[in-house]
Amino acid sequence: MEEIVCQGCGVSIQSERPNEAGFAPASALEKETIICKRCFRLKHYNEVQDVSYTDDDFLTMISQIRNTKGLIVKIVDIFDFNGSFISSLQRLTGNNPVLLVGNKVDLLPKSTNKSKLIQWMKKSASDLGVKVQDVYLISAAKGIGMDQLEAAIADYRAGRDVYVVGSTNVGKSTFINRLIDRSTGVNDAITTSYFPGTTLGFIDIPLDEQSSLYDTPGVINRGQMAHYLSDQDLKVITPNKEIKPRVYQLNEKQTLYIGGLARFDFEKGDKQSFVCYFANQLSIHRTKLENAEQLYEKHVGEMLSPPNEETLKSLPALNGKSMRIEDSKVDIVFPGLGWITIPNGGVTITAFSPKGVPVSIRTSLI
Ligand code: GDP
Repeated sequence: MEEIVCQGCGVSIQSERPNEAGFAPASALEKETIICKRCFRLKHYNEVQDVSYTDDDFLTMISQIRNTKGLIVKIVDIFDFNGSFISSLQRLTGNNPVLLVGNKVDLLPKSTNKSKLIQWMKKSASDLGVKVQDVYLISAAKGIGMDQLEAAIADYRAGRDVYVVGSTNVGKSTFINRLIDRSTGVNDAITTSYFPGTTLGFIDIPLDEQSSLYDTPGVINRGQMAHYLSDQDLKVITPNKEIKPRVYQLNEKQTLYIGGLARFDFEKGDKQSFVCYFANQLSIHRTKLENAEQLYEKHVGEMLSPPNEETLKSLPALNGKSMRIEDSKVDIVFPGLGWITIPNGGVTITAFSPKGVPVSIRTSLI
């Protein structure tokens, strides 16, 4: 079949995968001017929609930024820091300064210590090899922290262009739409423009006469939990309002299952109250360690869900990591899901997550 390209941005048109680049419904292919869904939404609703690209396409595009001078605004989901962090960023964007933005701050329990979170983000970014100028916490959906971030962008960009980058699902479109909303002259605020050396348009929001803010496409990160789940599952694991901490008093040799996606074994140590921070609608089951395996085999996909019976087939097996925790107030972080706070050190635990979505530990944010 002859290749059809979008008249708006130049991407190849396809009509099978609605959430991927270049989608246009089959019915639209009859039309004289064919544009992809992303450009259609932009044109008619002045609304940005994220589409996903394969890592390679994305990386090629992003690497163009290396040859320009601008400010990088990198958005991550604070509930999925590792999963939403693009660690090859530094190599791809060269020496341009980076502002790191943690989105979805509205979901954190009130008791969260924001400056600890910022410190942790700085350190994690540095461990992943990305040097950041500063870290900001925002809620793109609720408009929290936007004044501060906009002021910082104005400051750091010093008259240059701004590139907004992030993996899928971090809230990049929500952020861009919020910026458009806040800017004056909304109707003509955005245009799609070709970026030198690429076929795809970056969305271009003029900032002043000489410079623009560009929305770049989202990348799918392999370490993202979202990658393995259905939309239905995602609704269950994604917090939609402020998280209510759930407390489990455990004796050693007890286990918690977080749906069927994560498992926490309290192997050894004094009885204590573990605090779980996960979406309120995600179920947590407690069992004896000796019964844990059997319970999973019998009930994963139904009582222990998500995954459901369908997504279970493609979900990598749970992989356990045994850890001796000496310090008090430590968080075991399950990327894309949430975390469990261990109040008192001197314990041995095993944390399980799907292979390829590794758990990490940090000093507690509370
Ligand atoms: P993109 O793929 O990065 O463009 O992400 P979207 O803007 O489509 O957002 C992904 C999901 O996160 C959607 O369900 C949004 O409603 C949600 N979301 C985005 N920003 C926020 C936020 O600040 N707070 C909360 N609670 N949810 C958000």
